[in-house]
Order: sequence, then structure tokens, then C-alpha cells
Amino acid sequence: MSLLVVGSIALDTIETPFDRVEDVAGGSAVYIATAASYFTAPIRMVGVVGSDFPKSEFEFLESRGIDLEGLQVVPGGKTFKWKGRYHYDLNIRDTLETQLNVFEEFNPILPESYKTCRYVVLGNIDPTLQRRVIQSLSKKPELVVCDTMNFWIEGKRTELLETLKLVDILIINDSEARLLASEPNLIKSARKIMSLGPKTIIIKKGEHGALLFTNDTIFSAPAYPLESIYDPTGAGDAFAGGFIGHLVRTEDFSDENMKRAVIYGSTLASFCVSKFGIEGIKSLSDVEILGRYREFIELSRIED
Ligand code: AMP
Repeated sequence: MSLLVVGSIALDTIETPFDRVEDVAGGSAVYIATAASYFTAPIRMVGVVGSDFPKSEFEFLESRGIDLEGLQVVPGGKTFKWKGRYHYDLNIRDTLETQLNVFEEFNPILPESYKTCRYVVLGNIDPTLQRRVIQSLSKKPELVVCDTMNFWIEGKRTELLETLKLVDILIINDSEARLLASEPNLIKSARKIMSLGPKTIIIKKGEHGALLFTNDTIFSAPAYPLESIYDPTGAGDAFAGGFIGHLVRTEDFSDENMKRAVIYGSTLASFCVSKFGIEGIKSLSDVEILGRYREFIELSRIED
């Protein structure tokens, strides 16, 4: 059942109109693995940090059942640092600084115990590295979920297209879907991306929810109407973690169960944005997650 998660591991500095935090643990792998840890164990994490990454964060990840054997710690190196500032409209974000540091030379190497993982989430990193991870597995995995961003769509399109041939489910935001497909219409974009490899596409629309496309279904999930959103950082990754977590837990890849997984993804994303960094998804209970999931279902249920 084990789930392999690869992605960035970062020290983030985040500014919003409400507050600022400095050098807090973040990165796609951290958000994905933490969110997925509420559904399945063990989670095998692959990433790189420097010696400045706080020991307490390793301890936290391990306490969530996340296996860190595949984590590379570069002695004397500095962890990837990212600084972002949100506008009053939290949908608008400026990246103020990206220091790649040890992430620049990252070469994901899978320990032997990781090579039989049946489920894989490829967080947002260079598509060449994403492909290398899939090719290092000893057996074809059951499910490969992939995230990417405009930086790779524009800068490494050919590499990304090669990687997409090996991907089952692509999770992407609306502007990235349009960019990847060179097509303004989202439905046509999704169909076009499906012809590149992934059988299922999820298009995230921030505070407007997410769309799921399979061969036979289009499903529209709302976003949770939170009164206080503190920090949207990592929402997409928390979504990916909740989504894959539910699929791994149930081992059911039917369209109906994919819809439930989208709601679980949205649930984890909603907790994520309610606090800074990963704070919002650090200590959830099953009751809280199930309660929010049910509220989601109620949000779009109508009497016929
Ligand atoms: P999201 O809000 O989904 O864009 O994810 C935010 C996380 O992505 C932050 O924790 C950052 O550390 C991480 N991040 C920012 N830029 C990059 C990048 N170029 N490659 C990988 N991860 C990044």
C-alpha cells in the first residue's frame, strides 16, 4: 500500500496582509506527505535539505508516519528557500525570492525499500527528475499522480510531455491547464491534456473549487467558504495529499470514488489555508476531517 512522495522541501517566508512568518517548513513534498498521512501509512518521502532544516520538523514528519530514509541531508548545505507575498486579494501572489541552494543539484535516489511503492505522487519539481523517480521503481506503480507549474510548462515543455506519458492523474491549476494545452477553454484543455497521457485531469480553480475530468465524467467540486483564509501557500499540495490519500486508503479508482477523493483533497486544502504554512494540517483529527468532508457534500446537495 505504500505511497511515495517526491517534491521540494523548503524553508518558506510568507507575507500576507495579516501576518508574516519566516523560514517555516514548507515545500510541495512536506505539504503532500503531511496531508496524505491522515489516510495512509507508511509514506516514503524523497527530497533534499541542508543542515539548517530544523530537527523538530523531521520529528514532526516522522510522528506522522512519514519515512525519511529517502531524505538527503547535505552537510553544511542550505535548504531551498522561498519567499512569497500575497496581496489583499489572496489569489494574487508575488514570489519575492527563490534560493535553490541544495535543491539545485537534487538527484532523487530511491532507497531499496522505496522501489516497490505502488502509489506515487510527483510534487512540483523538474519533470526530468519526476521521470527519473518513476523509472527507478522496480515495478510499474498502480497510480502515478503528478503536479507541475508554469515554470516547467514554459521552460521544459518537451521533458514535461515525456513525463506526462507515464502519469495517470495530472493535478494542475486553471491557468496552467490553458498554458499546457495552448487552449483557452478549460474543457477542451482537459481533453487535450488527456491525449498526452494522463487518463484523469484535475483542474484547481483556487477559491472556486476544482474540476475532475475522466473519460466518462466531469465533476465540479466547490471550495469551502471559509470566513478567514490566512495563507493559501501549499493549498494545491494539501489537495493532492488528501486526494491520493483517500485513493490509497480505499484502493478504488472508480469515477465515483475519484469524486470522493476530490472532496477529501478539498477538505485538506481548506484546513491548510486556515493557518500559516503547514500549521493548519499539523494536528487534525479523523472527526474533524470527516465533519468537513460531510459539510462539503452538503454544500452542493439539492432537493430534487
Ligand atoms: P503552492 O502554494 O501550491 O504553489 O506551493 C507552495 C510551496 O511550493 C511552498 O512551500 C514553496 O516552498 C514551494 N515552491 C515554490 N517555488 C517552487 C519551485 N520553483 N519548485 C518547487 N517548489 C517550489
